[in-house]
Amino acid sequence: MAEAKPSLPADLRCVLIDEESIRERVLALAAEIDEAYKDITEPLILVGVLKGSFIFLADLSRRLTIPHIVDFIAISSYGNKGDKRGEVRLLMDTRENLAGHHVLIVEDILDSGSTLSYLTKAFKARGTKSVETAVFLDKPARHVVPVDIQFRGFEIEDVWVVGYGLDYKERYRTLPFIAEMIPEN
Ligand code: 5GP
Ligand code: MG
Repeated sequence: MAEAKPSLPADLRCVLIDEESIRERVLALAAEIDEAYKDITEPLILVGVLKGSFIFLADLSRRLTIPHIVDFIAISSYGNKGDKRGEVRLLMDTRENLAGHHVLIVEDILDSGSTLSYLTKAFKARGTKSVETAVFLDKPARHVVPVDIQFRGFEIEDVWVVGYGLDYKERYRTLPFIAEMIPEN
């Protein structure tokens, strides 16, 4: 029997990346990360940037076969809501001491690059062995600060997206797919 297609909320335009594509891509990324870190002698520290990365991090970490530790940070960014300063402030630090460890920052989306540029510099200054980045989504058209990304899920156009951890005013984070929002005006 044909299944009825679930309708989207009125402020969402369309599904950009469906559940199955996400599952496949995350599996492939985990394999890339396993391969890249296969020779390290102590656990890799995954540092998820709250809140948007929590679902990507949960899925990615469960697909990894290398030993790893999950940790989180929270930052506040002034660059997202019309204010173009792109300032980033650390609100909550990791529980782990990162010094002497290989660190992989796990982020939901790369937009201007301010967040990842700030975090990469800050973590390198702590005497880490390496600092690399995994982003689920990348909006190349929006880059302002250059950032070197080692692991990337999907490239998307310059549209506001929600789902798979990403929100609009705290809504839609738990949608299992990535959807494009219809701008408010
Ligand atoms: P950046 O510092 O690279 O400018 O900003 C990255 C942050 O902006 C992301 O972690 C995310 O919180 C937010 N962001 C950028 N684009 C989007 C989007 O399309 N949807 C959502 N929900 N957040 C976004
Ligand atoms: Mg984020």
